[in-house]
Amino acid sequence: MMPKVLQRPTLVLNRNWQPVNVATVARALVLLWNESARVVDPADYQLYTWADWSMLKPRADEPFIRAVRFRLRVPEVVALNGYDRVPAATVTFSRRNIFKRDHNTCQYCGVQPGSEELTIDHVVPRAQGGVSSWENCVLACVACNKRKADRTPEQARMRFRRKPVRPAWKPLYAEHGMRMKSWSKFVSEAYWNVTLGE
Ligand SMILES: [Zn+2]
Repeated sequence: MMPKVLQRPTLVLNRNWQPVNVATVARALVLLWNESARVVDPADYQLYTWADWSMLKPRADEPFIRAVRFRLRVPEVVALNGYDRVPAATVTFSRRNIFKRDHNTCQYCGVQPGSEELTIDHVVPRAQGGVSSWENCVLACVACNKRKADRTPEQARMRFRRKPVRPAWKPLYAEHGMRMKSWSKFVSEAYWNVTLGE
């Protein structure tokens, strides 16, 4: 089994220091070893190659990786040497993700009756040419859906609690469920707060 410390998350930045992923420490060390990435020291933004990094002695209070001959510091942030793209923040348009975006809440009256009692409402009804898209679909409780029927919100004189938009989640980041303090220097706080919540 992989030692726990190797399963810790490492923030992966692209060449321009924009966050692209969260990988395990094990993966980050492979990137480092391959010379695909360098470690970023969040304290002073200094970059370390494998050779430099493996020379450093872990401080007494920090986690380390026990190799055969030496102890290795655990990288919290690495920057890729050759990769400058930013992964597209696309979220699949799905029933499940609409429930997530709308927090299992009727977007008209605000009730949270449970997922069985919620329906997906087409803002502009399909009968009037409305499409299935992030901007045209919201959760509605059975009562609101009935009341709105085949009308637009304007026609039904109903208001949204929030305008439906395409969510800006980056699911990659949410996966590990853990983030390091040092990452805040590279990833804005707002970024984390837009997340899903099961
Ligand atoms: Zn409702």
